[in-house]
Amino acid sequence: MADNSALPLIVLSEQFAKLPGIGMKTAQRLAYAVMSMSEEEARQFAEAIISAKTDVGYCKICQNLTEFDVCPICSDTNRDDSVVCVVETPKDVTAFERTNEYGGTYHVLHGLLSPINGIGPDNIKIKELLDRVGKENIREIIMATNPTVEGEATAMYIARLLKPLGIKVTRLAFGIPVGGHLEYADEVTLFKALENRSDCLLYTSPSPRDVEESR
Ligand code: ZN
Repeated sequence: MADNSALPLIVLSEQFAKLPGIGMKTAQRLAYAVMSMSEEEARQFAEAIISAKTDVGYCKICQNLTEFDVCPICSDTNRDDSVVCVVETPKDVTAFERTNEYGGTYHVLHGLLSPINGIGPDNIKIKELLDRVGKENIREIIMATNPTVEGEATAMYIARLLKPLGIKVTRLAFGIPVGGHLEYADEVTLFKALENRSDCLLYTSPSPRDVEESR
């Protein structure tokens, strides 16, 4: 926005520019769009942001975003709560729900392990998952994190914690390209990945001695 723009418009543009995928030019266009709203519409727009932020929290079971204590998926008695699909974000839940084929429940981690970025096990919802395993009658955990380095490392970390507890831990069969993201996968690809899931293998990084011996 040119320097001669009204300050509140510049401030509004800067707020829009904080959103993912919104550059400064688009942000300015959105700010002008707000200016063309009626005062009532602008108020509803602002209140929708506040209400989403204050009225939506985490489901106390699966940690997905919901306006209820327990989300509609966890409250649905027709779903198989002995199978839990572990995903990175609420968007991944939406992706699986779009397939209309998955009848189990979910657990949302809200992130992936990333030592480089300082994200450890305590920064994502792993403890909440372990609590569920202790309390609920879970027979299978499907690790459905994205096939990225961090997604694989997180799946492996959780599988290592769960397998000794006698829980079946599986991993999506990825027709999704390595480095790809679930939220962009089409329904058929996701359904196939789910249907063809296999035992989550535990890889161990080679010890210094193994490296030495292979020389
Ligand atoms: Zn839930």
